[in-house]
Formats: sequence, structure tokens, C-alpha cells
Amino acid sequence: MRRKIVAGNWKMNLSLSEARKLFSEVQQLKSSVDVYVFPSAGFVTEFAANQNNVIVGAQNGYYKDSGAYTGEMSMKQWASCGARAVLIGHSERREYFNETSTLLKEKIDAALRNGLTPFFCCGEPLPIREARTYLDYVKKQIEKSLFHLPESEFRKCVVAYEPIWAIGSGLTASTEQAEEMHAAIRSWVKEHYNEETAENCSILYGGSCNPSNAAALFACPNVDGGLIGGASLKAEDFAVLIDPATWNM
Ligand code: PEP
Repeated sequence: MRRKIVAGNWKMNLSLSEARKLFSEVQQLKSSVDVYVFPSAGFVTEFAANQNNVIVGAQNGYYKDSGAYTGEMSMKQWASCGARAVLIGHSERREYFNETSTLLKEKIDAALRNGLTPFFCCGEPLPIREARTYLDYVKKQIEKSLFHLPESEFRKCVVAYEPIWAIGSGLTASTEQAEEMHAAIRSWVKEHYNEETAENCSILYGGSCNPSNAAALFACPNVDGGLIGGASLKAEDFAVLIDPATWNM
């Protein structure tokens, strides 16, 4: 069954004590959906040891399992720390760390090989949106990094559509813009795999999603939840995003 998911990407924010406080506040929230948090690398092991209703993931991971890669942390190591998911293809990794679709494909394989749920992020920059070539652009991102997977492996992945112009900018995609892309992604999954796989695929929206726009976005038929940056750093905002009322449940 298609899962409803709200995931907090804490990025490079919070001290350890602030992160501990936020994690324990999030753990106490009542939720009607699957809740994930992606804290900074140094905090993952501690929080993963206490994950029950909140699932803990890593924000990044290397595609080789081990070796002379100073400073990197492999998917295999993350799994050994208790992480259960990993973000792959976030636009900040693509832009600031030059991560290409070919590398992301390797990371997807490594995550799956090690039993982590990949949250594959895709999305177009503003000039591509303005040139109206955004559907092609995102389709290529998905084809290059995900569609090599056999159906059984693809089914373990979560897709997050995050238009780059909406991330951290306060500009949210309209419900029409989000629904258009999410429906398109589902149709490509159907074309490439089959209807059942498409129907079961959780496709999250990310980009300035917050308590004032979440209910409308989550009500879109092809939006199965959100990958949340800024609004995941305040427990009271995150609480609204996972509240059954926001989900009309
Ligand atoms: C993100 O970085 O994944 C994100 C969606 O950030 P924000 O919610 O702050 O736009």
C-alpha cells in the first residue's frame, strides 16, 4: 500500500543538545503518517538507538561499502549504526558537491544493498521551470538514477519532488504545479514498471512546505506527504504537518 510520509531534513542545523531536544519532542507527537527525521551525521547513531515511532535516516552516504575514502560514511556503515533510510539526490548535494545522476544511481544501489530506504530527491531549477521543460528534466533525473532498478527494488524507494526554486525560498509550488509533476512521475513509473508499482509508490513534495500550505498540498491525489526542511526544525510546526487534522484523517 502507498505510504503517507512526512520526513524532516534537518540539514546542517542544531547542536547536539538542540537536536536531542527536538528529537524527543518529535517522538512525543501524535501522528497519522510515517514520520522520518534526517539529523546531521554525528547524531544519527544516538537517535537511531531510540527510534520507535520516528524513523531515523542519514542525509548522505557513500556508494562504496568500505575503503580509503577519508571523511566518507558508507551506506553499509549507516546500516550498522541503525539508520533505516537515506536521502539521495538532494539538490544541495547535486549543486554544492557536484553529485551527478551516475553517482546517485550508485548511491541508490548501495542504499538498497544495505537495507536502507532511499529517499530519491529530484526537481528542476527556476530557469527550467520558466522554459517549461521541467517535466522532461525531472523525467531524465528519474530515468538515469532509478529506472535501472528491477521492480522489486524500485518498490523499496521513496521519491521526493523538490523544485529547487521552492527549497528554502518561501516560494511553494502551487497545488496545481505539485499535482502536475506528481501525476507525471506516477505515470512514468506506470509506463516503466506497471500500474501496481505506480500506485504503491510514495511521492513526497518538498519546498517551503509549512503549516499554512501543507493541508492543501497533502490533499492532492498524487502527493503522499512531504520532505520538510525549515518547518521540521520547530516541533510545533512539524506537529501540524503530521497531525491527523492536516491529513483530513
Ligand atoms: C529540503 O531541503 O528538502 C526542503 C524541502 O527545505 P525547505 O522545506 O526548507 O524548503
